[in-house]
Amino acid sequence: MTSENIWYHSTNGKADRVSFSEALLKGLAPDKGLYMPDHIPQINDHIIRSLSGKPYADIAFEIARHFLRGEIPENDLRHLVDDAYNFEVPLEKVVDRNYIMRLDQGPTASFKDFAARMMGRLMQYFLKKQNRNMLILTATSGDTGSAIANAFYGLDNIRVVILYPENEVTPRQRKQMTTLRRNIKIIALKGKFDDCQALVKQAFTDPDLEYLNLSSANSINIGRLIPQSFYYFYAWAQLARPDEDIIFSVPSGNFGNMMGGLIARKMGLPVRKMIIATNENDEVPVYWRTGNYKTIVPSKNCVSSAMNVGHPSNMARVVSLYGGVMDEKGNITVEPDVKQMHKDIYAVSISDSQTTETLKATYNRYQVITEPHGAAGWAGLMQYYSDNPSEATGRLAVCLETAHPAKFPEEIRRLLGIDPPLPASLEGLDELEESFDKLDHDYQHFKEYLKDRF
Ligand SMILES: *Cc1c(COP(=O)(O)O)cnc(C)c1O
Repeated sequence: MTSENIWYHSTNGKADRVSFSEALLKGLAPDKGLYMPDHIPQINDHIIRSLSGKPYADIAFEIARHFLRGEIPENDLRHLVDDAYNFEVPLEKVVDRNYIMRLDQGPTASFKDFAARMMGRLMQYFLKKQNRNMLILTATSGDTGSAIANAFYGLDNIRVVILYPENEVTPRQRKQMTTLRRNIKIIALKGKFDDCQALVKQAFTDPDLEYLNLSSANSINIGRLIPQSFYYFYAWAQLARPDEDIIFSVPSGNFGNMMGGLIARKMGLPVRKMIIATNENDEVPVYWRTGNYKTIVPSKNCVSSAMNVGHPSNMARVVSLYGGVMDEKGNITVEPDVKQMHKDIYAVSISDSQTTETLKATYNRYQVITEPHGAAGWAGLMQYYSDNPSEATGRLAVCLETAHPAKFPEEIRRLLGIDPPLPASLEGLDELEESFDKLDHDYQHFKEYLKDRF
């Protein structure tokens, strides 16, 4: 460790500060808080301008380098980044200077590939160096699981257990997890996503399971968060005129994605506004409007199923970034700078009918195919414009498309009457054989399951 290293503290403030590699391999802090960097490295204007037009991997390396100084030699880091980011990141113009960034060209056609591939390679790097093994335990509402399973598939030092709510993922999402096998075990839980998340969280604090060396690959892991800042820089670097700022609209569930954007902004990226679009799980937009944060239990089922979250796990980080403290239950014990938060971030809840209407309208008016999550993002931008008419012309804005439309074929067929073209990464899935276990929502059963098998 050198004096340049960034240390990581827990949002609950009751755990020791750790290095990046410790935070990465631990996941959740021992006091149930989330790791945050003590300071966010600044990238000077000159470097930010020099990113203009550069390829994705070059930009990712430049940002990563600032966070990982002293933790990993630059040659090794460059190799990890090149290996992780070997696919396209299309920016599709919709109308005027409003774009959709398609984060759906990775191996599981989900934006979660961006974080999972980088995190997997970083974990492998540090585990090998320390000669250790690890069991990754992850709850998923669909896309996290497949991205994690694919990113970790076949690695020697790492085994993976993924829990999904049995009725809340699409057949295709399920098959992206259940057809892998080897070091990847999949559990279909009779419950909701929040139940899966609760079991995982309990296992992490169970002393009887310490021997497993558990770690999370959920969006609570700092190793997922940092890579999710790279594509914000990329979008700006491809599209912005010199000195132009940019609006982002992010369809949000656990708020890991938007948190990456807030980090990019803190690093120096000229972000004019972060728009966060939730579905009908509107606890955060309500908090913005009323100042009262109240979790939604159980979470509501919406068409944008990966956003069915009644208490975003990264909310504590958002509050922390603005100087406040939120505990793991959602209680705010120290108020954040609400004024600044509202200035930077516009929060809006998009109903299911708005989502499906928007999905149809973007296709009919602009021939742009979205899916329910990306459509919520676009609807969020439109809502922002109608609330702020002076913003509505001439601004550069990018909506994040977080999954490939082909991952939701029934929905797209129903709404648009077409079959979205299948990306290469999803071809051939239907012929593969599935393998998974079913469990009740019961911690003791889950614990025995883990102890029997590992
Ligand atoms: C996970 C996911 C989201 C939500 O991302 P968060 O980082 O949890 O806010 C949105 N869309 C899709 C398709 C996802 O898989």
